[in-house]
Amino acid sequence: MGEEKFTAIVVGAGPAGSTAAMVLAKEGNDVLLIEKGASPGSKNMFGGRMYCHALNRILPNFWEEAPVERAVARETVTFLHGGKAVSLTCRNSDWTKPPYHSVTLLRAEFDSWLASKAEEAGAELACNIRVDDLLTEDGRVVGIRAGEDEILADAVIAADGVNSLLAQKAGLAKMFSPGQVSTGMKQVIELPEETIRDRFGLEGNAGAVQLFVGECTGGMPGGGFLYTNKSSVSLGLVVSASALQRSSVRAPDLMEDFKNNPEILPLIEGGKVAEYSAHLIPEAGLGMMPRIYGDGILVAGDAAGFVLNLGYVIRGMDFAIASGEAAARAVICAKERGDFSGNSLSGYQELLKKSFVLQDLEAYRKVPEFMENERLYAEYPGLLTSIFTNVFSVDGSQPIRLHSKILNRVKESGLSLAQLAVDGWKGATRL
Ligand SMILES: Cc1cc2nc3c(=O)[nH]c(=O)nc-3n(C[C@H](O)[C@H](O)[C@H](O)COP(=O)(O)OP(=O)(O)OC[C@H]3O[C@@H](n4cnc5c(N)ncnc54)[C@H](O)[C@@H]3O)c2cc1C
Repeated sequence: MGEEKFTAIVVGAGPAGSTAAMVLAKEGNDVLLIEKGASPGSKNMFGGRMYCHALNRILPNFWEEAPVERAVARETVTFLHGGKAVSLTCRNSDWTKPPYHSVTLLRAEFDSWLASKAEEAGAELACNIRVDDLLTEDGRVVGIRAGEDEILADAVIAADGVNSLLAQKAGLAKMFSPGQVSTGMKQVIELPEETIRDRFGLEGNAGAVQLFVGECTGGMPGGGFLYTNKSSVSLGLVVSASALQRSSVRAPDLMEDFKNNPEILPLIEGGKVAEYSAHLIPEAGLGMMPRIYGDGILVAGDAAGFVLNLGYVIRGMDFAIASGEAAARAVICAKERGDFSGNSLSGYQELLKKSFVLQDLEAYRKVPEFMENERLYAEYPGLLTSIFTNVFSVDGSQPIRLHSKILNRVKESGLSLAQLAVDGWKGATRL
Protein backbone atom coordinates (compact mmCIF):
# COMPACT_ATOMS: atom_id res chain seq x y z
CA MET A 1 0.00 0.00 0.00
CA GLY A 2 3.12 2.18 0.41
CA GLU A 3 2.86 5.96 0.23
CA GLU A 4 -0.29 5.93 -1.88
CA LYS A 5 -3.08 8.27 -0.78
CA PHE A 6 -6.67 7.21 -1.32
CA THR A 7 -9.69 9.41 -1.84
CA ALA A 8 -11.40 7.27 0.79
CA ILE A 9 -10.58 4.42 3.11
CA VAL A 10 -13.68 2.46 4.07
CA VAL A 11 -13.30 0.40 7.23
CA GLY A 12 -15.50 -2.71 7.40
CA ALA A 13 -16.75 -4.80 4.47
CA GLY A 14 -20.27 -5.29 5.77
CA PRO A 15 -23.21 -3.97 3.71
CA ALA A 16 -22.52 -0.33 4.69
CA GLY A 17 -18.81 -0.44 3.86
CA SER A 18 -19.03 -2.45 0.64
CA THR A 19 -21.83 -0.21 -0.68
CA ALA A 20 -19.84 2.94 0.15
CA ALA A 21 -16.73 1.52 -1.55
CA MET A 22 -18.71 0.41 -4.62
CA VAL A 23 -20.44 3.79 -5.10
CA LEU A 24 -17.15 5.68 -4.69
CA ALA A 25 -15.24 3.36 -7.03
CA LYS A 26 -17.96 3.53 -9.70
CA GLU A 27 -17.34 7.29 -9.85
CA GLY A 28 -13.65 6.68 -10.49
CA ASN A 29 -12.31 7.34 -6.98
CA ASP A 30 -9.35 5.52 -5.41
CA VAL A 31 -10.91 3.52 -2.60
CA LEU A 32 -9.43 1.08 -0.11
CA LEU A 33 -11.92 -1.22 1.63
CA ILE A 34 -10.41 -2.80 4.75
CA GLU A 35 -11.92 -5.83 6.51
CA LYS A 36 -10.59 -7.52 9.62
CA GLY A 37 -12.16 -10.90 8.76
CA ALA A 38 -10.44 -13.44 6.53
CA SER A 39 -13.12 -12.63 3.93
CA PRO A 40 -16.07 -10.19 3.89
CA GLY A 41 -18.89 -11.64 5.96
CA SER A 42 -16.77 -14.25 7.71
CA LYS A 43 -17.27 -12.43 11.01
CA ASN A 44 -20.78 -11.14 10.34
CA MET A 45 -24.18 -12.41 11.39
CA PHE A 46 -27.76 -11.25 11.32
CA GLY A 47 -31.17 -12.83 11.71
CA GLY A 48 -31.73 -13.62 8.11
CA ARG A 49 -33.82 -11.24 5.98
CA MET A 50 -32.98 -8.14 3.98
CA TYR A 51 -35.63 -5.75 2.66
CA CYS A 52 -34.63 -5.30 -0.99
CA HIS A 53 -35.55 -1.67 -1.74
CA ALA A 54 -32.24 0.00 -0.80
CA LEU A 55 -29.91 -2.29 -2.75
CA ASN A 56 -32.33 -2.56 -5.69
CA ARG A 57 -32.03 1.21 -6.18
CA ILE A 58 -28.24 0.95 -6.42
CA LEU A 59 -27.94 -2.43 -8.19
CA PRO A 60 -31.26 -2.97 -10.02
CA ASN A 61 -32.41 -6.62 -9.98
CA PHE A 62 -29.42 -7.56 -7.79
CA TRP A 63 -31.14 -10.87 -6.95
CA GLU A 64 -30.40 -12.16 -10.45
CA GLU A 65 -26.75 -12.57 -9.50
CA ALA A 66 -26.57 -12.20 -5.70
CA PRO A 67 -26.52 -15.31 -3.51
CA VAL A 68 -30.04 -14.88 -2.13
CA GLU A 69 -31.75 -17.80 -0.41
CA ARG A 70 -35.55 -17.34 -0.61
CA ALA A 71 -38.05 -14.58 -1.33
CA VAL A 72 -40.14 -14.08 1.79
CA ALA A 73 -43.84 -14.71 1.05
CA ARG A 74 -45.15 -15.50 4.52
CA GLU A 75 -44.80 -13.58 7.78
CA THR A 76 -45.92 -15.02 11.10
CA VAL A 77 -45.81 -13.57 14.59
CA THR A 78 -46.35 -16.11 17.36
CA PHE A 79 -47.00 -15.40 21.03
CA LEU A 80 -45.78 -18.17 23.33
CA HIS A 81 -46.78 -18.91 26.88
CA GLY A 82 -46.96 -22.03 29.03
CA GLY A 83 -47.11 -24.52 26.16
CA LYS A 84 -49.75 -22.44 24.35
CA ALA A 85 -49.25 -20.42 21.19
CA VAL A 86 -51.22 -17.83 19.23
CA SER A 87 -50.05 -16.89 15.74
CA LEU A 88 -50.93 -14.22 13.22
CA THR A 89 -49.91 -15.02 9.63
CA CYS A 90 -49.80 -12.83 6.55
CA ARG A 91 -49.14 -14.43 3.16
CA ASN A 92 -48.58 -12.52 -0.08
CA SER A 93 -47.68 -14.49 -3.21
CA ASP A 94 -46.76 -11.21 -4.99
CA TRP A 95 -43.70 -11.07 -2.74
CA THR A 96 -42.25 -14.12 -4.53
CA LYS A 97 -42.11 -12.23 -7.82
CA PRO A 98 -39.60 -9.54 -8.81
CA PRO A 99 -39.16 -6.87 -7.65
CA TYR A 100 -38.80 -8.86 -4.45
CA HIS A 101 -39.95 -7.28 -1.22
CA SER A 102 -37.48 -9.11 1.03
CA VAL A 103 -35.12 -12.06 0.73
CA THR A 104 -33.39 -14.37 3.19
CA LEU A 105 -29.60 -14.42 3.07
CA LEU A 106 -26.54 -16.02 4.62
CA ARG A 107 -24.07 -13.28 5.37
CA ALA A 108 -20.80 -15.04 4.53
CA GLU A 109 -21.94 -15.53 0.93
CA PHE A 110 -23.83 -12.26 0.56
CA ASP A 111 -21.18 -9.97 2.08
CA SER A 112 -18.47 -11.58 -0.07
CA TRP A 113 -20.59 -11.02 -3.16
CA LEU A 114 -21.30 -7.35 -2.30
CA ALA A 115 -17.60 -6.71 -1.62
CA SER A 116 -16.81 -8.32 -4.99
CA LYS A 117 -19.13 -5.75 -6.63
CA ALA A 118 -17.04 -3.01 -4.99
CA GLU A 119 -13.87 -4.66 -6.33
CA GLU A 120 -15.43 -5.00 -9.78
CA ALA A 121 -16.11 -1.26 -9.71
CA GLY A 122 -12.42 -0.65 -8.96
CA ALA A 123 -12.12 -0.61 -5.15
CA GLU A 124 -9.12 -2.29 -3.54
CA LEU A 125 -10.17 -4.86 -0.92
CA ALA A 126 -7.77 -5.78 1.88
CA CYS A 127 -8.90 -8.56 4.24
CA ASN A 128 -7.35 -9.90 7.42
CA ILE A 129 -6.41 -6.36 8.43
CA ARG A 130 -7.73 -4.83 11.60
CA VAL A 131 -7.71 -1.04 11.71
CA ASP A 132 -6.42 -0.02 15.14
CA ASP A 133 -6.52 3.75 15.02
CA LEU A 134 -7.09 6.90 13.02
CA LEU A 135 -4.29 9.15 11.81
CA THR A 136 -4.98 12.78 12.55
CA GLU A 137 -3.35 16.07 11.64
CA ASP A 138 -4.42 19.28 13.41
CA GLY A 139 -7.51 17.44 14.68
CA ARG A 140 -8.48 16.27 11.18
CA VAL A 141 -8.65 12.59 10.22
CA VAL A 142 -6.12 11.94 7.45
CA GLY A 143 -5.93 8.15 7.37
CA ILE A 144 -5.76 4.98 9.41
CA ARG A 145 -3.24 2.87 11.29
CA ALA A 146 -3.35 -0.91 11.07
CA GLY A 147 -0.53 -2.54 13.01
CA GLU A 148 2.67 -0.96 11.68
CA ASP A 149 0.98 0.33 8.52
CA GLU A 150 -0.15 3.92 8.15
CA ILE A 151 -2.35 4.68 5.13
CA LEU A 152 -3.48 8.13 4.07
CA ALA A 153 -6.85 9.21 2.64
CA ASP A 154 -8.84 12.39 2.10
CA ALA A 155 -11.72 10.80 4.02
CA VAL A 156 -12.32 7.73 6.17
CA ILE A 157 -15.73 6.05 6.27
CA ALA A 158 -16.21 4.15 9.54
CA ALA A 159 -18.47 1.22 8.64
CA ASP A 160 -17.02 -0.98 11.37
CA GLY A 161 -20.33 -2.04 12.89
CA VAL A 162 -21.87 -1.73 16.35
CA ASN A 163 -19.63 -0.21 19.03
CA SER A 164 -17.52 1.45 16.33
CA LEU A 165 -13.92 1.76 17.46
CA LEU A 166 -13.28 4.45 14.85
CA ALA A 167 -16.27 6.64 15.76
CA GLN A 168 -15.02 6.52 19.36
CA LYS A 169 -11.41 7.27 18.35
CA ALA A 170 -12.67 10.27 16.37
CA GLY A 171 -14.51 11.52 19.46
CA LEU A 172 -17.86 11.24 17.63
CA ALA A 173 -19.35 8.40 19.72
CA LYS A 174 -19.18 7.04 23.23
CA MET A 175 -19.09 3.40 24.25
CA PHE A 176 -22.72 2.16 24.28
CA SER A 177 -24.48 1.26 27.52
CA PRO A 178 -26.08 -2.21 27.98
CA GLY A 179 -29.52 -0.54 27.84
CA GLN A 180 -28.86 0.53 24.24
CA VAL A 181 -28.04 -2.87 22.77
CA SER A 182 -29.48 -6.37 22.55
CA THR A 183 -27.62 -9.63 22.38
CA GLY A 184 -28.40 -11.75 19.33
CA MET A 185 -27.61 -15.45 19.09
CA LYS A 186 -28.27 -17.65 16.10
CA GLN A 187 -27.86 -21.17 14.82
CA VAL A 188 -27.97 -22.15 11.16
CA ILE A 189 -29.61 -25.58 11.07
CA GLU A 190 -29.27 -27.59 7.90
CA LEU A 191 -32.27 -29.50 6.56
CA PRO A 192 -32.97 -30.96 3.11
CA GLU A 193 -34.64 -28.49 0.74
CA GLU A 194 -37.65 -30.80 0.35
CA THR A 195 -38.10 -31.02 4.13
CA ILE A 196 -38.12 -27.22 4.38
CA ARG A 197 -40.75 -26.95 1.64
CA ASP A 198 -42.94 -29.62 3.31
CA ARG A 199 -42.64 -28.35 6.87
CA PHE A 200 -43.30 -24.73 6.01
CA GLY A 201 -45.75 -25.33 3.17
CA LEU A 202 -43.55 -23.49 0.67
CA GLU A 203 -43.35 -23.68 -3.08
CA GLY A 204 -40.54 -22.76 -5.47
CA ASN A 205 -38.34 -19.96 -4.18
CA ALA A 206 -40.87 -18.84 -1.51
CA GLY A 207 -39.63 -18.40 2.03
CA ALA A 208 -41.19 -17.98 5.45
CA VAL A 209 -40.30 -15.77 8.39
CA GLN A 210 -41.56 -16.43 11.89
CA LEU A 211 -41.02 -14.15 14.88
CA PHE A 212 -41.77 -15.23 18.46
CA VAL A 213 -42.65 -13.22 21.56
CA GLY A 214 -43.01 -14.37 25.17
CA GLU A 215 -41.48 -17.26 27.04
CA CYS A 216 -38.71 -17.78 24.45
CA THR A 217 -36.84 -14.87 26.08
CA GLY A 218 -37.93 -15.80 29.59
CA GLY A 219 -40.19 -12.72 29.54
CA MET A 220 -37.22 -10.40 28.94
CA PRO A 221 -37.47 -7.74 26.21
CA GLY A 222 -36.63 -9.35 22.88
CA GLY A 223 -37.90 -12.21 20.77
CA GLY A 224 -37.15 -15.25 18.69
CA PHE A 225 -36.78 -15.57 14.95
CA LEU A 226 -36.80 -18.25 12.29
CA TYR A 227 -35.92 -17.57 8.66
CA THR A 228 -36.04 -20.26 5.97
CA ASN A 229 -33.05 -20.48 3.63
CA LYS A 230 -32.78 -22.89 0.69
CA SER A 231 -31.48 -25.84 2.68
CA SER A 232 -31.21 -24.50 6.21
CA VAL A 233 -33.13 -22.41 8.71
CA SER A 234 -31.69 -19.50 10.67
CA LEU A 235 -33.01 -19.77 14.21
CA GLY A 236 -32.19 -17.42 17.03
CA LEU A 237 -33.03 -15.06 19.83
CA VAL A 238 -32.51 -11.38 20.47
CA VAL A 239 -32.58 -10.35 24.13
CA SER A 240 -32.06 -6.98 25.82
CA ALA A 241 -28.42 -6.99 27.00
CA SER A 242 -29.25 -5.16 30.23
CA ALA A 243 -32.11 -7.55 31.10
CA LEU A 244 -29.86 -10.53 30.36
CA GLN A 245 -27.16 -9.03 32.57
CA ARG A 246 -29.63 -8.61 35.45
CA SER A 247 -31.12 -12.10 35.13
CA SER A 248 -29.56 -15.36 36.26
CA VAL A 249 -30.41 -17.00 32.92
CA ARG A 250 -27.53 -18.12 30.70
CA ALA A 251 -27.96 -17.18 27.02
CA PRO A 252 -27.03 -20.68 25.71
CA ASP A 253 -29.67 -22.24 28.03
CA LEU A 254 -32.29 -19.83 26.69
CA MET A 255 -31.38 -20.92 23.16
CA GLU A 256 -31.62 -24.63 24.05
CA ASP A 257 -35.06 -24.10 25.67
CA PHE A 258 -36.18 -22.22 22.56
CA LYS A 259 -35.11 -25.08 20.30
CA ASN A 260 -37.09 -27.49 22.47
CA ASN A 261 -40.24 -25.36 22.47
CA PRO A 262 -43.13 -27.37 20.98
CA GLU A 263 -43.61 -24.64 18.33
CA ILE A 264 -39.98 -24.98 17.20
CA LEU A 265 -38.95 -28.58 17.73
CA PRO A 266 -41.02 -30.13 14.91
CA LEU A 267 -39.67 -27.50 12.49
CA ILE A 268 -35.99 -28.29 13.12
CA GLU A 269 -36.21 -31.98 14.00
CA GLY A 270 -33.46 -34.03 12.30
CA GLY A 271 -31.56 -30.84 11.38
CA LYS A 272 -27.81 -30.43 11.82
CA VAL A 273 -26.37 -27.32 13.46
CA ALA A 274 -23.90 -25.98 10.91
CA GLU A 275 -23.08 -22.66 12.51
CA TYR A 276 -23.47 -20.84 15.84
CA SER A 277 -22.87 -17.12 16.25
CA ALA A 278 -23.62 -14.23 18.57
CA HIS A 279 -23.55 -10.48 17.98
CA LEU A 280 -24.75 -7.21 19.50
CA ILE A 281 -27.52 -5.12 17.92
CA PRO A 282 -27.77 -1.36 18.45
CA GLU A 283 -31.43 -0.86 19.29
CA ALA A 284 -31.78 2.59 20.84
CA GLY A 285 -32.50 4.27 17.48
CA LEU A 286 -31.86 8.00 17.33
CA GLY A 287 -31.19 7.88 21.08
CA MET A 288 -27.79 6.32 20.39
CA MET A 289 -26.90 8.01 17.10
CA PRO A 290 -23.41 9.53 17.41
CA ARG A 291 -22.24 12.60 15.49
CA ILE A 292 -22.02 11.01 12.06
CA TYR A 293 -19.47 13.33 10.47
CA GLY A 294 -16.31 15.13 11.48
CA ASP A 295 -13.23 16.54 9.80
CA GLY A 296 -12.20 13.83 7.32
CA ILE A 297 -14.53 11.15 8.68
CA LEU A 298 -18.08 9.79 8.25
CA VAL A 299 -19.88 7.05 10.21
CA ALA A 300 -22.32 4.64 8.50
CA GLY A 301 -24.50 1.61 9.22
CA ASP A 302 -24.50 -0.05 12.64
CA ALA A 303 -21.54 2.12 13.62
CA ALA A 304 -24.03 5.02 13.53
CA GLY A 305 -26.74 3.00 15.33
CA PHE A 306 -28.93 2.77 12.20
CA VAL A 307 -31.16 -0.17 13.18
CA LEU A 308 -34.91 -0.28 13.66
CA ASN A 309 -36.63 -3.01 15.65
CA LEU A 310 -40.42 -2.70 15.72
CA GLY A 311 -40.89 -6.21 17.07
CA TYR A 312 -42.59 -7.40 13.89
CA VAL A 313 -40.03 -5.79 11.54
CA ILE A 314 -36.26 -5.80 12.11
CA ARG A 315 -34.17 -3.65 9.78
CA GLY A 316 -30.50 -2.87 9.70
CA MET A 317 -29.29 -4.08 6.30
CA ASP A 318 -31.30 -1.56 4.24
CA PHE A 319 -30.19 1.26 6.58
CA ALA A 320 -26.57 0.13 6.26
CA ILE A 321 -26.74 0.06 2.45
CA ALA A 322 -28.50 3.44 2.13
CA SER A 323 -26.20 5.13 4.65
CA GLY A 324 -23.12 3.65 2.94
CA GLU A 325 -24.35 5.09 -0.34
CA ALA A 326 -25.04 8.51 1.23
CA ALA A 327 -21.58 8.56 2.87
CA ALA A 328 -20.00 7.84 -0.54
CA ARG A 329 -22.03 10.61 -2.21
CA ALA A 330 -21.00 13.07 0.52
CA VAL A 331 -17.32 12.23 -0.10
CA ILE A 332 -17.80 12.68 -3.86
CA CYS A 333 -19.31 16.16 -3.28
CA ALA A 334 -16.51 17.03 -0.83
CA LYS A 335 -13.93 16.03 -3.44
CA GLU A 336 -15.57 18.29 -6.02
CA ARG A 337 -15.19 21.14 -3.53
CA GLY A 338 -11.66 20.07 -2.60
CA ASP A 339 -12.74 20.33 1.04
CA PHE A 340 -13.02 17.32 3.35
CA SER A 341 -13.73 19.31 6.51
CA GLY A 342 -16.64 18.33 8.76
CA ASN A 343 -18.52 21.31 7.41
CA SER A 344 -18.16 20.07 3.85
CA LEU A 345 -18.96 16.45 4.78
CA SER A 346 -22.08 17.53 6.72
CA GLY A 347 -23.96 17.04 3.42
CA TYR A 348 -24.05 13.37 4.52
CA GLN A 349 -26.54 14.15 7.27
CA GLU A 350 -28.63 16.21 4.83
CA LEU A 351 -28.73 13.28 2.37
CA LEU A 352 -29.84 10.95 5.16
CA LYS A 353 -32.57 13.37 6.23
CA LYS A 354 -33.99 13.20 2.71
CA SER A 355 -33.81 9.39 2.67
CA PHE A 356 -35.78 6.81 4.63
CA VAL A 357 -32.81 6.37 6.98
CA LEU A 358 -33.35 9.40 9.20
CA GLN A 359 -37.02 9.77 8.25
CA ASP A 360 -37.90 6.29 9.53
CA LEU A 361 -35.70 6.58 12.62
CA GLU A 362 -37.34 9.94 13.37
CA ALA A 363 -40.86 8.57 12.80
CA TYR A 364 -40.16 5.68 15.19
CA ARG A 365 -38.11 7.74 17.66
CA LYS A 366 -40.23 6.63 20.63
CA VAL A 367 -40.25 2.92 19.76
CA PRO A 368 -37.08 1.87 21.64
CA GLU A 369 -38.53 3.21 24.89
CA PHE A 370 -41.90 1.52 24.22
CA MET A 371 -40.14 -1.79 23.51
CA GLU A 372 -38.56 -1.75 26.98
CA ASN A 373 -42.00 -2.33 28.54
CA GLU A 374 -41.57 -5.79 30.08
CA ARG A 375 -45.35 -6.42 30.07
CA LEU A 376 -45.10 -6.88 26.27
CA TYR A 377 -42.95 -9.98 26.78
CA ALA A 378 -43.90 -11.25 30.25
CA GLU A 379 -47.65 -10.63 30.55
CA TYR A 380 -49.33 -9.97 27.20
CA PRO A 381 -48.30 -13.26 25.54
CA GLY A 382 -49.88 -15.07 28.54
CA LEU A 383 -53.05 -12.95 28.28
CA LEU A 384 -53.38 -13.47 24.52
CA THR A 385 -52.84 -17.23 24.65
CA SER A 386 -55.30 -17.58 27.54
CA ILE A 387 -57.97 -15.51 25.71
CA PHE A 388 -57.63 -17.52 22.50
CA THR A 389 -57.46 -20.96 24.12
CA ASN A 390 -60.58 -19.98 26.06
CA VAL A 391 -62.34 -18.73 22.93
CA PHE A 392 -61.66 -22.02 21.13
CA SER A 393 -62.53 -24.27 24.11
CA VAL A 394 -65.82 -26.18 24.10
CA ASP A 395 -66.59 -28.18 27.26
CA GLY A 396 -70.36 -28.15 27.67
CA SER A 397 -70.32 -25.50 30.43
CA GLN A 398 -72.65 -22.45 30.43
CA PRO A 399 -72.20 -20.23 27.34
CA ILE A 400 -70.24 -17.04 27.93
CA ARG A 401 -70.20 -14.25 25.38
CA LEU A 402 -66.91 -13.15 23.77
CA HIS A 403 -66.56 -9.83 25.63
CA SER A 404 -67.09 -11.58 28.99
CA LYS A 405 -64.57 -14.25 28.09
CA ILE A 406 -62.03 -11.54 27.33
CA LEU A 407 -62.81 -9.50 30.46
CA ASN A 408 -62.59 -12.63 32.64
CA ARG A 409 -59.16 -13.47 31.28
CA VAL A 410 -57.98 -9.86 31.79
CA LYS A 411 -59.20 -10.01 35.40
CA GLU A 412 -57.37 -13.29 35.97
CA SER A 413 -54.16 -11.86 34.53
CA GLY A 414 -54.02 -9.15 37.22
CA LEU A 415 -53.60 -6.45 34.57
CA SER A 416 -55.83 -3.40 34.94
CA LEU A 417 -57.97 -2.17 32.06
CA ALA A 418 -56.35 1.23 32.44
CA GLN A 419 -52.91 -0.30 32.02
CA LEU A 420 -54.09 -2.19 28.95
CA ALA A 421 -55.57 0.97 27.48
CA VAL A 422 -52.36 2.95 28.07
CA ASP A 423 -50.08 0.24 26.62
CA GLY A 424 -52.49 -0.29 23.70
CA TRP A 425 -52.58 3.42 22.95
CA LYS A 426 -48.80 3.73 23.18
CA GLY A 427 -48.39 0.73 20.88
CA ALA A 428 -50.86 2.07 18.35
CA THR A 429 -49.30 5.54 18.27
CA ARG A 430 -45.61 4.60 18.41
CA LEU A 431 -45.33 1.53 16.20
C1 LIG B 1 -29.06 -11.26 15.78
C2 LIG B 1 -29.24 -10.22 14.73
C3 LIG B 1 -30.33 -10.27 13.88
C4 LIG B 1 -30.50 -9.30 12.89
N1 LIG B 1 -31.50 -9.47 12.00
C5 LIG B 1 -31.61 -8.62 10.96
C6 LIG B 1 -32.53 -8.87 9.91
O1 LIG B 1 -33.18 -9.93 9.85
N2 LIG B 1 -32.65 -7.94 8.93
C7 LIG B 1 -31.87 -6.80 8.90
O2 LIG B 1 -32.03 -6.00 7.97
N3 LIG B 1 -30.97 -6.55 9.87
C8 LIG B 1 -30.80 -7.44 10.88
N4 LIG B 1 -29.83 -7.23 11.81
C9 LIG B 1 -29.02 -6.00 11.74
C10 LIG B 1 -27.95 -6.09 10.63
O3 LIG B 1 -27.21 -7.26 10.77
C11 LIG B 1 -27.01 -4.90 10.71
O4 LIG B 1 -27.75 -3.72 10.80
C12 LIG B 1 -26.08 -4.83 9.51
O5 LIG B 1 -25.24 -5.95 9.47
C13 LIG B 1 -25.21 -3.58 9.61
O6 LIG B 1 -24.26 -3.58 8.57
P1 LIG B 1 -22.90 -2.77 8.75
O7 LIG B 1 -22.18 -2.90 7.47
O8 LIG B 1 -23.16 -1.44 9.31
O9 LIG B 1 -22.12 -3.54 9.92
P2 LIG B 1 -21.59 -5.04 9.97
O10 LIG B 1 -22.43 -5.94 9.15
O11 LIG B 1 -21.44 -5.35 11.43
O12 LIG B 1 -20.15 -4.96 9.29
C14 LIG B 1 -19.07 -4.34 9.95
C15 LIG B 1 -17.80 -4.88 9.33
O13 LIG B 1 -16.69 -4.18 9.85
C16 LIG B 1 -15.64 -5.11 10.14
N5 LIG B 1 -14.81 -4.45 11.15
C17 LIG B 1 -15.16 -4.08 12.40
N6 LIG B 1 -14.15 -3.47 13.02
C18 LIG B 1 -13.12 -3.44 12.14
C19 LIG B 1 -11.78 -2.94 12.20
N7 LIG B 1 -11.31 -2.33 13.31
N8 LIG B 1 -10.98 -3.10 11.12
C20 LIG B 1 -11.45 -3.72 9.99
N9 LIG B 1 -12.69 -4.21 9.87
C21 LIG B 1 -13.52 -4.07 10.94
C22 LIG B 1 -16.40 -6.34 10.62
O14 LIG B 1 -15.62 -7.52 10.58
C23 LIG B 1 -17.59 -6.35 9.66
O15 LIG B 1 -17.29 -7.04 8.48
C24 LIG B 1 -29.60 -8.20 12.81
C25 LIG B 1 -28.50 -8.12 13.67
C26 LIG B 1 -28.30 -9.13 14.60
C27 LIG B 1 -27.07 -9.07 15.47
